[in-house]
Amino acid sequence: MSALAARTGAINLGQGFPDEDGPATVIEVAARSLTSGCNQYPPGIGIPELRLAIAAHQQRHYGITLEPDTQVVVTAGATEAIAAAMLALVNPGDEVVVLEPYYDSYTATIAMAGGVRRPVTLRAPNFRVDAGELRAAVTPRTRVMLINSPHNPTGTVLTRAELEVIAELAIEHDLVVVTDEVYEHLTFDSVPHIPLTTLPGMAERTVTISSQGKSFSFTGWKVGWVTGPADLVATVLAAKQWLTYTNAAPLQPAVAYGLEHEQEYPHRLAASLQRKRDLLCDGLTELGFEVFRPQGTYFAMTDVRGFGYEDAMAYCLALPERAGVVAIPAQVFYDDQEAGRHLVRWAFCKQESVLTEALDRLRGAS
Ligand code: PMP
Repeated sequence: MSALAARTGAINLGQGFPDEDGPATVIEVAARSLTSGCNQYPPGIGIPELRLAIAAHQQRHYGITLEPDTQVVVTAGATEAIAAAMLALVNPGDEVVVLEPYYDSYTATIAMAGGVRRPVTLRAPNFRVDAGELRAAVTPRTRVMLINSPHNPTGTVLTRAELEVIAELAIEHDLVVVTDEVYEHLTFDSVPHIPLTTLPGMAERTVTISSQGKSFSFTGWKVGWVTGPADLVATVLAAKQWLTYTNAAPLQPAVAYGLEHEQEYPHRLAASLQRKRDLLCDGLTELGFEVFRPQGTYFAMTDVRGFGYEDAMAYCLALPERAGVVAIPAQVFYDDQEAGRHLVRWAFCKQESVLTEALDRLRGAS
């Protein structure tokens, strides 16, 4: 869809990347690192300064205590962390219970590991976890649960009650839970993000993944991390070693700097994204869409059936020509095609003028 946006000159509300960079101070540290000889392989596990900063971040925000030398690994974005976790923890034939709609890399990396995915579907209009469906998805072959909160693309932020069901099942069936929390700071309306690992009995079985890409608006830097108990983190590191071995030498000191010295940035970003969410969601509502207002992330979902489209794929393929806007048909994130067929995902991590222009174009075309 990004290629379609480029070809047609459409406004790209498809792919989730911000059109403004993160803190200039962080870029300055990266630039200084480049010119001061920080260009050779860093340690595979990540530079000590960044691992310390990640551990301090987890302590400061959530009261999670981590030993930076054994419980933190730096990765090439959350994407590598997800791949390394799946390859490390899933053996051929193992089942992975995973929330759908999915961030695309989940299905690919479960397949690369030879695993079998068991989707639990988040359905419109509320996109909540159904405890019964979750329970039913766990079988004697389940090895791992893969959770994402705040959730892309629905914007659902799992509640403590939902996390408790996940924790209860994980403990009962002795499962490892991999939790993708890349949007941890991007929640709205004071909805709290609760890391799964903070629930009783979960610290020893939870692999937590995050990334500076979303929190600091440097999605192109691809610096992420894995935290968790030393034994699980060591197995993920063993897989990471054969994926990239090591990554982003000059960026790691900059990310460490950001985590330590730009602590307000993610909060300001969340406040600004909340305004953008409202701008886009109010505008789409006025245009007649049924809008599902997200609690977090970069994305809002809408139902397009009111526009005479049963299939959002057809709607999205026609949209660049018709209105000069690109959005994503959410069915591509679902195994359960019926659950996603009528849904469109719109990214609002764009400048307000861009969102206003996109709404004007949609108004003109409707
Ligand atoms: N997980 C989710 C849920 C995401 O939305 C994304 C980015 N779109 C990622 C992981 C990837 O993060 P990174 O860019 O750090 O690899």
